[in-house]
Formats: sequence, structure tokens, C-alpha cells
Amino acid sequence: MTIKNMKKLTIIGGGPAALILAAELDSKLYHVTICEKKKSVGRKFLVAGEGGLNLTYQSTAKELSEKYSPRDFMEPVIRKFNNQDLIDWLEQLHIPIFVGTSNRVFPRREMKPITVLNKILDQLKSNNVTIRTEQKWTGWSDTGALCFENGEEVVSDLVVFALGGASWRVTGSDGAWRDAFIARGVKVAPFRAANCAFGVDWTERFIAMHQGKPLKNIALNYQGDTVRGELVISKFGLEGNAIYALSEKIQATLATQKTATVYLDLKPTLTIDQIKAKYQKSKLSKVTEILKVDLNLDRTAIGLLKHCSDKATFLNPDVLCKLIKSLPVILQTADELDKAISSLGGIDLEEIDENFQLKKIPNTYAIGEMLDWYAPTGGYLLQGCFSMGFALAAYLNKR
Ligand SMILES: Cc1cc2nc3c(=O)[nH]c(=O)nc-3n(C[C@H](O)[C@H](O)[C@H](O)COP(=O)(O)OP(=O)(O)OC[C@H]3O[C@@H](n4cnc5c(N)ncnc54)[C@H](O)[C@@H]3O)c2cc1C
Repeated sequence: MTIKNMKKLTIIGGGPAALILAAELDSKLYHVTICEKKKSVGRKFLVAGEGGLNLTYQSTAKELSEKYSPRDFMEPVIRKFNNQDLIDWLEQLHIPIFVGTSNRVFPRREMKPITVLNKILDQLKSNNVTIRTEQKWTGWSDTGALCFENGEEVVSDLVVFALGGASWRVTGSDGAWRDAFIARGVKVAPFRAANCAFGVDWTERFIAMHQGKPLKNIALNYQGDTVRGELVISKFGLEGNAIYALSEKIQATLATQKTATVYLDLKPTLTIDQIKAKYQKSKLSKVTEILKVDLNLDRTAIGLLKHCSDKATFLNPDVLCKLIKSLPVILQTADELDKAISSLGGIDLEEIDENFQLKKIPNTYAIGEMLDWYAPTGGYLLQGCFSMGFALAAYLNKR
């Protein structure tokens, strides 16, 4: 293809979905420009790196797709670029990875998140991608040109939006793009916090003693779903991977009801009968001592049992053993959207075709967290964004 025939492709937003797309687009077919409103790209990617850059999750492709919702939308996307494909892609950019004991996949310790980002940006450079920062997109002109805050108007053969969700606005992902899409008739669901903490009405005494304390190796049950993991007691309520993984369902309940009750299993490896047997065999007389010594429950787990039950229950071994397996905790509200790891809501999936093209705006595509899908923490969010960017590049390169 001659330079004259090359198409101009503008990507708006510079997160991981945009970066892999730009890295993979055929530079003989497309002049690619990324327009990012912040001073640099990949800010949320770097924030993700602060807690350990969990890039994906090692499991079978089937197990991987089961984590996404809606599954029928995400499964074909993941099939086009799965966890092993992502690991291979990163390694080919000289980003060595390691698989943690929990099957979470990270860059090797010597690779700081900024180094990972820079390696990806090196790939963009060698693919002749132009990156324009401090380019805030504000909407479309009457003729359909892309409008930017600095007054510039850009006409592009193809446009890909990768504007992210609406949490951690300091990174640039503020969801402010929603109104411009709604004005074009595109359905965009309101944003809500996902992978977030939920509020619990703790007593002052409980929080004074247990704030910041973890509840390890627990299981959390909600509406037929069971998640093994960890929780942390915070002043606001409960946080941690076990509750994050249930956040989509809990949010659905809180949309119509004032509270949602989750059930905590403090001893997921034991049955109620095994717990009762240990209790009955105990040579100790004080309940707290039996829980600590014979059932190996820590101070926080015992404090929580006391907090969520009355004295009569606490002193009734039969009821107490049942509570250890299924302790109801009432959740009042989700934490603020801005503090959430990801957001629910965004462009309704009915608005795009199987290649991410917006049905109402020709030659315009949307990928990444700005679409209305959900995944728990564990590397599934980045995997989802990388898979979409890669899948779209593969499609556009063949078009
Ligand atoms: C604290 C935290 C920790 C996380 N940890 C992990 C983790 O370990 N593993 C994992 O899988 N996921 C993690 N995530 C989630 C993950 O970072 C996101 O899902 C992912 O970054 C979304 O990628 P994206 O490309 O869709 O959009 P984003 O990364 O959100 O990027 C969107 C970009 O668009 C730009 N933009 C927005 N509006 C405009 C505009 N009008 N004009 C121009 N540019 C614009 C923004 O500035 C931003 O740079 C974490 C998130 C947070 C907040």
C-alpha cells in the first residue's frame, strides 16, 4: 500500500487497551495517533502497579472466560487473545513475568511498572505510532470531526475510543465522555463502583479494636456464589478480594434494596459437624478460648462473631458453630466510585458489533473499560482490556 492510500486512525485515550491496539496495528496500513488528555499515557496502569501489577491470571482459557460478565460477550474476545497469548506478547517485548502462588501473573520483581510501560511504549515507537498528550477530546462537531479542548478539530478515517471507566479520576479515567455519546444516541449505563469496599455499621468498639485487620482464608457466600479469599476490616466496612469478586451482584441488590446480606464462612475447610466435634472435644471452658485454641480462630474473627451475634447465641455451641460457617454481615452501601478499582456501567454492549464498532457512528470503535462489562480483581481487568485491543487490531489489519 502506498503512503497515499494509508488510512488515518485516531485512538482517543492512552490506557492499556489503546496501547496494545496501537502496538499491533499494521503500520503499512494505518497512520496511528493516540490522543491522551493527561501529560502522559498509562496512568491507571501505573496506579495498578502500586499494589503489584497483576497482569493476568493463569488458568485454562475456559476458566478465564468464566470470570467475565457478560460471558457471551467476553468469551470470544478472550479466545482471540488469552492469558498465555498475553504472557507471550509481554515476553516478546522483554517483559519477563512470574506466576505467583495464587496463580496471579506479575512482571518479574526487577521490572518496575514504569519499565513495563516504557517497554510497551518502545514497541509503539518502533510501530511509528504518534502519541499526542494534553489532547482532551470533548465531542464531535456538526460535521462529525473530533473536537478537542484546545479548539483543534480532527477528521480521521477510523476512530477508536479507549477512554476507560470512571474510577480513580486522578488517572484521567473520569467517565466525563458519557454525555457526548448519549448526545449521539448511544446508550451508556450510569457508572457505579465495582471491585470496591462495602459499608458495614460497625460499633465504635469493634472498629477501635479491629480496623485494618485481615480475615484470611475465609469464604464469602452471596446468592449462590462462593468466593474463597481474604477480607480486611476498614472503618467504612469490608474490603478485599473476596468481597470485590461479589461486587457486581451486591451492587445489583443495592440498586433496589437498602441493604445486602453476605454470609461469611470463617472455616471453609471444615464442615459444621467437624467444627462441632472440635468444640465438644475441647478441654477448655471459656468460649473465646475454645474458638482460639481448638478452632484456631484469630482475635478479629472472634471479635466479628461477637459483633454479629448476641450473648445468648455466643454461648450456645450449636448456634455458634453454625454461625462460624455462615455469619451474616449486613452491607449498607458501596464505597465511592472514585475509590473503586473498576466501574460498572459504560457503553451498552448492544451498541457495538462483534468487532467493537459502534452501530450508530460509522468507522468508530470502542474498547476497554468504557464498555459495560465486569471482571473481578486477579488480573482479569487488564487481560480483558489487552484482549479487546489485540482483537480489534487483528480485525482492522485484515479489513
Ligand atoms: C487502584 C487500582 C488498581 C488496579 N489494579 C489492577 C491489577 O492489578 N490488575 C488488573 O487487571 N487491573 C487492575 N486495575 C484496573 C485496570 O487498571 C483498568 O481496568 C485498566 O487500566 C482499564 O484500561 P483502559 O485502557 O480501558 O482505560 P484506562 O486505563 O482507564 O485509560 C483510559 C485513558 O483515557 C484517557 N481519557 C479519558 N477521557 C479522555 C478524553 N476526553 N480525551 C482524551 N483522553 C481521555 C484517560 O486519561 C486515560 O489515560 C486497577 C485499577 C485501579 C484503580
